[in-house]
Amino acid sequence: MFENLSDKLNKAVKTLKGQGRISDINIASTIKEVRRALMDADVNYKVAKDVTDRVREKAIDRKVMIAVEPGQLFVKIIQEELTELMGGQAQSINLKGSPAIVLIAGLQGSGKTTFSGKFANYLKKQGRQILLVACDIYRPAAITQLQVLGEQIGVDVYAEPENKDAVSIAQNAIAHAKSKGKNIVIIDTAGRLAVDEVMMKEVENIKKAVTPSEILFVVDSMTGQDAVNTAKTFNERLDFDGVVLTKLDGDARGGAALSIKNVVNKPIKFISTGEKMEALDVFYPDRMASRILGMGDVISLVERAQQAFDEDEAKRLNKKMRENKFDLNDFLTQLEQIKKMGNIKDLMGMIPGVGSQIKDLDISNDSFKPIEAIIRSMTPKEREKPDIIDGSRKKRIAAGSGTQILQVNNLLKQFDQMRSMMKKVNQMQTTGKMKSFK
Ligand code: GDP
Repeated sequence: MFENLSDKLNKAVKTLKGQGRISDINIASTIKEVRRALMDADVNYKVAKDVTDRVREKAIDRKVMIAVEPGQLFVKIIQEELTELMGGQAQSINLKGSPAIVLIAGLQGSGKTTFSGKFANYLKKQGRQILLVACDIYRPAAITQLQVLGEQIGVDVYAEPENKDAVSIAQNAIAHAKSKGKNIVIIDTAGRLAVDEVMMKEVENIKKAVTPSEILFVVDSMTGQDAVNTAKTFNERLDFDGVVLTKLDGDARGGAALSIKNVVNKPIKFISTGEKMEALDVFYPDRMASRILGMGDVISLVERAQQAFDEDEAKRLNKKMRENKFDLNDFLTQLEQIKKMGNIKDLMGMIPGVGSQIKDLDISNDSFKPIEAIIRSMTPKEREKPDIIDGSRKKRIAAGSGTQILQVNNLLKQFDQMRSMMKKVNQMQTTGKMKSFK
């Protein structure tokens, strides 16, 4: 996400970063390049101009030219301005009411249903009781889609396939939620391919009938400026509370994320970055600005990990590592948990300095496949004690997993190195050399 913008901004500030002294001339040309980078990312001209004008003013105000590290300070100023542009602080979701009612609106194909599932999954992990409601009375497939997602994440789904009145479905669902002791009701509404009066009226009616504590507008970031225009229309009718930007994993430009707050004056609250139920992040403007500038977003990465990793499982693995009993079964479990966190390339992009370097590499979750196949072709005993894997076993494992003996050797070698590293860390911890890491 945002690869092109990150690339261009990094190029723009690179010359400044390397310089001890900065002149008026190179500041002016850098600002011009920053503005062009924003416009190429689909940010509207006026917004791009306002941002860069403020960057210039701040640069003068804070005496960038005579700062100790002028380049760094300049980047910091851009980071602050991008943060402001995207809304400043992260905004919370209003979940007041019993049950709290969240209405999800947006065009068809924007990712509403997928987001409803992800959001339910996210809230469920916080220990809430959720009811998902399928209010699409036009497309039976939409109901099935929500039911499949509900099943996958273990959340109940309410639907009335025969009922053609969306308002009454929503009302019945709320009564049902109360009787079942649910805390939160998430209503997934019908969408159309384009803004249309009947659809707008229907969502408006649902809003009136159920008075949601939170209305979230879902929009596909890949539609660029159209996303911003659709947001404007929905906001005029629904006066929604927040925006969910989807498909940011596919949008290299990111203009919607940068302009939407400025145009509709409603904050982005979540970003969706893939089809997996875990690929959802709370939107933090400052973290996103850092990410755009190639400064990484380690905090979001850690949060994703915390969501994906089963706590008991993590404790169990940790204990095994400490006791030097970590085996290939555990390694496989870990790989599975990492994959649950979402797209690997996207995750690596959150690591400072890594984003721009991996953008042309072909890394996908499939890269793990041969490793998994190799481990799965081993017997339980082999997975526990890889040392017993001799030549003939290697041959069998390679044949069974459809790989080469060389790949089996590499995996065993890497696993061995990993184990000896764990052992060293353990020894250092017990001898007190790494107390602060405990
Ligand atoms: P709805 O019509 O608004 O309910 O949209 P859906 O939830 O059915 O999503 C439309 C398509 O986009 C589906 O194929 C989803 O799998 C896909 N999709 C949804 N969110 C994302 C996302 O964040 N990233 C990607 N790559 N695909 C997504």
